[in-house]
Amino acid sequence: MHIETKCLQEGYKPKSGDPRVLPIYQSTTYKYDSSDAIGDLFDLKADGHMYSRISNPTVAAVEAKIAALEGGVGALCTSSGQSANFMAIVNIAQAGDNFVSLSSIYGGTVNLFAVTMKKMGIEVRFATPEMTDEEVEALFDDRTRALFGETIANPALKVLDITRFADLAHRMGVPLIVDNTFATPILCRPFEFGADIVVHSTTKYLDGHAAVVGGVIVDSGNFDWAKGGKYPELSTPDESYHGVVYTEQFGKAAYITKARVQMMRDLGATPAALSAYILNLGTETLALRMERHCANALAVAKMLKNHPKVSFVNYPFLEGDSEYETAQKYLTGGSGVIAFGLRDGRAAATRFMDSLRLAAIVVHVADARTSVLHPASTTHRQLTDKQLADAGVLPELVRLSIGIENVEDIIADIEQALDKA
Ligand SMILES: *Cc1c(COP(=O)(O)O)cnc(C)c1O
Repeated sequence: MHIETKCLQEGYKPKSGDPRVLPIYQSTTYKYDSSDAIGDLFDLKADGHMYSRISNPTVAAVEAKIAALEGGVGALCTSSGQSANFMAIVNIAQAGDNFVSLSSIYGGTVNLFAVTMKKMGIEVRFATPEMTDEEVEALFDDRTRALFGETIANPALKVLDITRFADLAHRMGVPLIVDNTFATPILCRPFEFGADIVVHSTTKYLDGHAAVVGGVIVDSGNFDWAKGGKYPELSTPDESYHGVVYTEQFGKAAYITKARVQMMRDLGATPAALSAYILNLGTETLALRMERHCANALAVAKMLKNHPKVSFVNYPFLEGDSEYETAQKYLTGGSGVIAFGLRDGRAAATRFMDSLRLAAIVVHVADARTSVLHPASTTHRQLTDKQLADAGVLPELVRLSIGIENVEDIIADIEQALDKA
């Protein structure tokens, strides 16, 4: 099946007489006929749901679809993108360990990594794409457990050289974890370029309608956790789970199984069945929406590039963009997000935003409706000037999230607001 078809047909597979549309299984628990049947579930010997903190049929259907879209062996939905990123790391790192991350990432992830996880004793070490391989490798030591980056960084719109960083991670014996939120599996499937784990904030394009917060972790099944002895939590008995050895019992699905039965069991960042139902509806039109987001955004980026009040435009599919060549290698479209600057600085950016009529000022991105945000005073407000610069966020930078409305209406709105800026 092509990916457009998978968006509609993967996941929920009704049998004869079943509801056509994915049902909302609004139940915390599941009935079994014998204690032994439940015992087998607890021993992970049988497949099935036991309690909705761990799994639920509505959620499971969306997980199966997203795993299919990314080309992975399994997926775990979480209650937010933040919890997906957190669990993706703590599944393989503990106090005393560290990991390396590209610095050009979402501000919320910077805080999670550099503040909260640091308090837990897991240290992040930031790398930049400008560093040589030797410089990045110098950040690794024998306690380094992962390398992390975003396919299209939010909001700097830097495109990750996935093959380069996957090769580097593998040379250092660790997995590459890629946050694929902005690209979605429609524009890029990081596993095809060597990434091992993919995470998403499904709050963005996967839902696409600004209706439900969520996240997901997807496992490629390709990383060998038993090799090298760096991941004893996966390759030696888990005493909190009757001594199960994930790599032995679950093979390629070791990482994602552990994330569910240990991390989700203990942390409980579970999505509600209703949230999964809404997310599933969104994913059905993902391919169609991404096509329109990309076409509209490219047209807007070209218009902005030629506008006298605009000092710079970042859009990976705009010819001449610093990311253009990397984008051509990894992406089939630039997504709907554009970052640009106003020649007259921060005050002009504010006047521009306040003059928009169709585009709404919202703390959100990747919505079907066009929206706009000033990262330096909102999503990235808690970052220091140094962190802002590392994330590629200038004070005059405006982030536009181009929707799927008629592009002439979007351009007319931006032009009239630029006139007033
Ligand atoms: C929004 C976002 C997150 C955080 O996701 P939430 O669903 O808001 O918790 C993580 N990474 C990226 C790239 C994002 O855009």
